[in-house]
Amino acid sequence: MKKMKVLMLSLVFLLSFRLPLRAEEGKILRIGLMTGYSLDRIQVTNAKGPFRIKAPGAENVFASGHVVEILPAGDLVSIHFRGRQTMRGSSFKLIDASIDTPGLPWRRYAGEILVRCESGKLSLCNEVPLEDYLASVVSNETEPKWPLEALKCQAVIARSFALASLSQHSKHRGFDLCDLTDCQVYHGLGARNPAVEKAVRETRGQVLSYQNRPALTLYHSTCGGTRVPNNVIFGGSALSYLRGGQDGEKKVLCRESPHFGPWQVSLSSSELAKAFEMEKLEAISLERLPSGYAKKVSLRGNPSKKLDAYPFWLKLGTSFGWGEVKSLNFSIKKEGERFVITGRGMGHGVGLCQWGARKMALEGSNYRKILNYYFPGTALVPSSRLEASR
Ligand SMILES: [Zn+2]
Ligand SMILES: [Zn+2]
Repeated sequence: MKKMKVLMLSLVFLLSFRLPLRAEEGKILRIGLMTGYSLDRIQVTNAKGPFRIKAPGAENVFASGHVVEILPAGDLVSIHFRGRQTMRGSSFKLIDASIDTPGLPWRRYAGEILVRCESGKLSLCNEVPLEDYLASVVSNETEPKWPLEALKCQAVIARSFALASLSQHSKHRGFDLCDLTDCQVYHGLGARNPAVEKAVRETRGQVLSYQNRPALTLYHSTCGGTRVPNNVIFGGSALSYLRGGQDGEKKVLCRESPHFGPWQVSLSSSELAKAFEMEKLEAISLERLPSGYAKKVSLRGNPSKKLDAYPFWLKLGTSFGWGEVKSLNFSIKKEGERFVITGRGMGHGVGLCQWGARKMALEGSNYRKILNYYFPGTALVPSSRLEASR
């Protein structure tokens, strides 16, 4: 399972020239870990066996239960054991170590973890085989108790999305994908589940493709009745397999979702003004699609602002929490000093609606049929046939 760094580098080298890649299945991904945290220090250990810390030309083995502290030291990384610095260098590899730091979530990962220092903080990158990565991601991005065909669907789209998005961060941060929702949520081995592992295994190496490349298989929790074309939300050019439309032929598929709505949130004008760096917010008007999705938002006040709905929504998420204004399919009404936001669904509304896919699976569709419904014009192929898109 563990490849040598040399092999990794040669893979990266091959990919950067966009050569057809024959071994996507055994591919090693580089995932940025705990990217939502500012890492001033971490503690690593292993309750079940020894763990190793490796630097070029040096390796320390620590016994089960020992705790090692890792700190940034200028541009370098410093390893401390029993209160003393034992190693110092520009990068280290952790093998079989779990991250167990007070104040941070406990994490354990398959594969090796590369520790470096970036702008005075620790930066962690997990070098993990694609299929191991998926077993974790699919558990985090769906409900393991859902029907197997829905889980298989999620395994294929998580695999395709990862392969289509490899250049998301690598230029700046030294990894392919982060572990947050803007890529896919990845919490390592702690999140794994037998039903999900079966779904990943039974679809091993299968990818949705479009024009001989992995398709950008975007997905969201609940569309609330209508899905929306990618370019409307994210800008850029329209992808034919992400053109959106009604969710279901005769009846709306995702109606059983707890997020279907309508839901309602009330935010004070002062809180909103603060979030958007305005002194005063008097009115909000929306430009909406016939389906109800917001497209543009005008904030009238001091100073007045106009922005696309997607950055407006992201700002609401970071300021008030992601579970509040759940989707982009909403309307806004002013009531006194407050703004009442009423909406449907959860997520950006582009691509596959997970609660819709679940319903199709419950009604007897297999994963191929569900994928074909949500991503028309794509083909399910072995990843070895595709060109890489890094
Ligand atoms: Zn990301
Ligand atoms: Zn839906």
